[in-house]
Amino acid sequence: MHKKLVLIINSGSSSLKFLLINSKNYKKFLTGIVECLYLKNTNISWNTKNISIKNFYLKSYTTHQEALEFIVNDVLKKKMNIFNNIIAIGHRVVHGGKEIKNSVVIDLSIINIIKRSSCFAPLHNPVNLLGITTLIKIFPSLRKKNVAVFDTSFYQKLPETAYLYGIPYIFYKKYGIRRYGAHGISHSYIMKKSAEIINKDIKSINIISCHLGNGASVSVIKNGICIDTSMGLTPSEGLVMGTRSGDIDPSIIFYLYEKVNMKIKEIKDLLTRKSGILGLSEVTSDFRFSEKKYFFDKKAKRTVDIFSYKLVKYISSYFFLIAKEIDALVFTGGIGENSILVRKLTVLQLSNLGFELCEKFNNKNGFKSNFRISSKKSIPILVISTDEELEIAKETIRLIN
Ligand code: ADP
Repeated sequence: MHKKLVLIINSGSSSLKFLLINSKNYKKFLTGIVECLYLKNTNISWNTKNISIKNFYLKSYTTHQEALEFIVNDVLKKKMNIFNNIIAIGHRVVHGGKEIKNSVVIDLSIINIIKRSSCFAPLHNPVNLLGITTLIKIFPSLRKKNVAVFDTSFYQKLPETAYLYGIPYIFYKKYGIRRYGAHGISHSYIMKKSAEIINKDIKSINIISCHLGNGASVSVIKNGICIDTSMGLTPSEGLVMGTRSGDIDPSIIFYLYEKVNMKIKEIKDLLTRKSGILGLSEVTSDFRFSEKKYFFDKKAKRTVDIFSYKLVKYISSYFFLIAKEIDALVFTGGIGENSILVRKLTVLQLSNLGFELCEKFNNKNGFKSNFRISSKKSIPILVISTDEELEIAKETIRLIN
């Protein structure tokens, strides 16, 4: 076997997705995921044409670095014997800060920028960086073949009205405080896939894209350009998420500090790791739990209703930016692709704008597939399975070529 393969690494705070893809024809050779990092039940699954390994348990509390070493040494080297076929590595990086506008081949200066931008994505950039440094160590001969693809690149053309906050302008000029957005790799994939499905030129596509996973965000795209998005300086702003609060009155922070005597670190932890679906349900950040109990548990109902309501607020305000030109409303991410209930509750509240579900299509659901869930008279509503790894792979192959 002499395939030239590109390795893609997409590290989240508790999971790590990986892909090996043929650099010539973009055929996926191997896909995999490590889940529950830093927990007791860390496990890995991977698939090739001939092999499918599901939930193979790694040692408890496996770290990102240990997971990467296992992927390379055990899966790619020992089990698959394809270590030497890897010719480049693509990494997802959430935040490129003020300086980085596009995907780049990684060198020391890029590593330093990713480090500096960690303050804007503290749950993500450090693990993205760890992936980069670990793999450069494991593959020293590919040192100049590592590419970083940034979530923030997708938002480079936001208008000033969308990216500036109502605080003194000097804070933008001096400290780079602005809306940067996140999930850009996924929204970019969704934009391209929507254009393909609708059969429209990407330069004229107008959609509202809802990425609803552990992190959740909405982006509005006009003529193939993102003109606003719900995540802000950091991925904390916007929708209610797995453990993040999303939008809050900033004075809540002062109140917690001054009246509840919480330390800044505790408040940060509260708003990023203990809020959102976890905080509202008081049980878990796993959306499936609240969805299952929706009809007979008050807390679960409240959680799902608030999640949908905030989503409706964003979709309806973004709707007016593209109005009649809208080609589709798109749901993606773990919740968007799988939650029949969230899609139903959300679309019901959008009926005044011309959105209507076809219940039969919505109930169909289908893991890792793309389908339409709107009625004939509705503005098209699509469910598209996102593929951040493929988007990163295409950028990586473009750059190393
Ligand atoms: P990440 O942002 O970590 O990539 P995912 O896109 O995988 O996250 O989404 C994870 C979320 O999707 C979790 O809240 C999970 O509960 C939810 N989810 C997964 N499957 C379903 C399902 N069948 N129904 C409802 N929610 C689901």
